[in-house]
Amino acid sequence: MPDVKIKTYEGGEISLKTEAIDKLKESIRGEVLTAESEHYDKVRKIWNAMIDRRPALIVRCAGAADVTRAVRFAGEHKLLTAVRGGGHNIAGNSVCDGGLMIDLSLMKSIQIDTKSRTARVEPGVTLGEFDRDVQTFGLATPVGINSTTGIAGLTLGGGFGWLSRKFGLTIDNLISADVVTAAGDLVRVSENDKPDLFWGIRGGGGNFGIVTSFEFRLHKVGPEVLAGLIVHPLDAAGEVLRFYRNFMKTTPKEFVCWFVMRLAPPLPFLPAEWHGKEILVLAVCYSGNVQDGVRIAKPLRSFGKPIADIIGPMPFVAWEAILDPLLAPGMRNYWKTHDFKEVSDGLIDTLISFAKRIPDPQTEIAFAQLGDGVTKVPQKDTAYTHRDAAFVLNVHGRWDNPANDTKCISWARELFQAAAPFATGGAYVNFMTGEEQDRVRPAYGSNYDRLARIKKKYDPNNLFRLNQNIPPAE
Ligand SMILES: Cc1cc2nc3c(=O)[nH]c(=O)nc-3n(C[C@H](O)[C@H](O)[C@H](O)COP(=O)(O)OP(=O)(O)OC[C@H]3O[C@@H](n4cnc5c(N)ncnc54)[C@H](O)[C@@H]3O)c2cc1C
Repeated sequence: MPDVKIKTYEGGEISLKTEAIDKLKESIRGEVLTAESEHYDKVRKIWNAMIDRRPALIVRCAGAADVTRAVRFAGEHKLLTAVRGGGHNIAGNSVCDGGLMIDLSLMKSIQIDTKSRTARVEPGVTLGEFDRDVQTFGLATPVGINSTTGIAGLTLGGGFGWLSRKFGLTIDNLISADVVTAAGDLVRVSENDKPDLFWGIRGGGGNFGIVTSFEFRLHKVGPEVLAGLIVHPLDAAGEVLRFYRNFMKTTPKEFVCWFVMRLAPPLPFLPAEWHGKEILVLAVCYSGNVQDGVRIAKPLRSFGKPIADIIGPMPFVAWEAILDPLLAPGMRNYWKTHDFKEVSDGLIDTLISFAKRIPDPQTEIAFAQLGDGVTKVPQKDTAYTHRDAAFVLNVHGRWDNPANDTKCISWARELFQAAAPFATGGAYVNFMTGEEQDRVRPAYGSNYDRLARIKKKYDPNNLFRLNQNIPPAE
């Protein structure tokens, strides 16, 4: 293998000697790839097709020891370093141009203890893999709504999904984690072991080290839940959402309803005359007893004149993947996000006006509901700060033709600006793009300074800088 030119985090470039790379190769169980390697292009590819970066070196780790070797190698040579879990992050920070990519996607072990209801999970595991395994035993913990998302990045930013109103964020169910620090030490963190680092990784993203194993608390869920979609014409969205916001206040924590505005996809349950027209979709999941769910959902299902209603009992594991066809990898994506305390009249009207000029059949306005289980954890208990945000808007700018880049990105930015007056000013770091470094401080609010001090303690040189970065405190 020839010498490899590679970028440093100080902004320079060095030439890695063949012997140094060979030594790295010999020391790890996984693989070391360069641009000449057979699988290089496949491995550097991530979910968002807008991101096309070429690392100089990729270390595909097979276990925690490989991660430790890779981090020590990166530190020794001061390499610009990206860390890849599931590769879903919209900002594309899991891959870099000209630097080192530490790829964790081969680390897929899931160990379940049904007696203590816990699972130990490696960082290459996707949500679909996790759900399938734990649901085999009728267990679950809150994770996101798309089965190909990585559990690692999702957890480190906070993590929420259909179970969060009941059981909190993913991090609220994290008992411990194994972390390789920038110094190349493998440490276990929990409420009792290195509590400062444990606090920081619960919402602080990949700033403090590489997590090689997550220990989660599991809950009895399903395996069957009541779930499905209610579809209305967008013209009815004003009335439906005003009803929705009051109705939701009457429902228990097991009842969750997110909504989406988009053009109707050509799916068989939608009448053909609606395909391509603007719609409002209510996505409902009741994770308690199915018969109770039928009773609780009735007023929402009876309201107005839906185009379709496909709510019914279904396996929870199937529901967790229900939106996959609309979120497949390989599309161009540009997202914008805001937090909200309530669904105000002004916000409803703004969302509808933008939905009426949605720029692409794949683009959507997605609105997630959190509350209760998330709110009840005190804000200072974890790095995830804005627990009072009961709703999170995700403007999913999404399309496939690069010629539509400007149109779709402008639309997403304009909607973001128009919705800002109704938002809290906080943000969920996992939905932020690569150009939003100025939003990192507001995203952590009053927890930011503590995070910067923890960063200084565990990563004083900012080795882990390709993320929603918190530079070390001065
Ligand atoms: C289609 C789609 C749906 C989504 N739905 C939800 C949802 O329902 N709920 C939700 O909460 N979020 C959701 N997200 C956001 C998701 O949580 C983030 O994109 C998250 O970063 C994905 O993690 P990943 O491991 O796949 O990403 P990656 O891109 O691999 O990693 C993201 C970043 O996390 C860090 N990182 C990853 N692994 C490690 C590790 N082991 N140790 C240290 N740092 C690490 C790195 O800084 C990396 O840049 C969704 C994203 C997409 C694209």
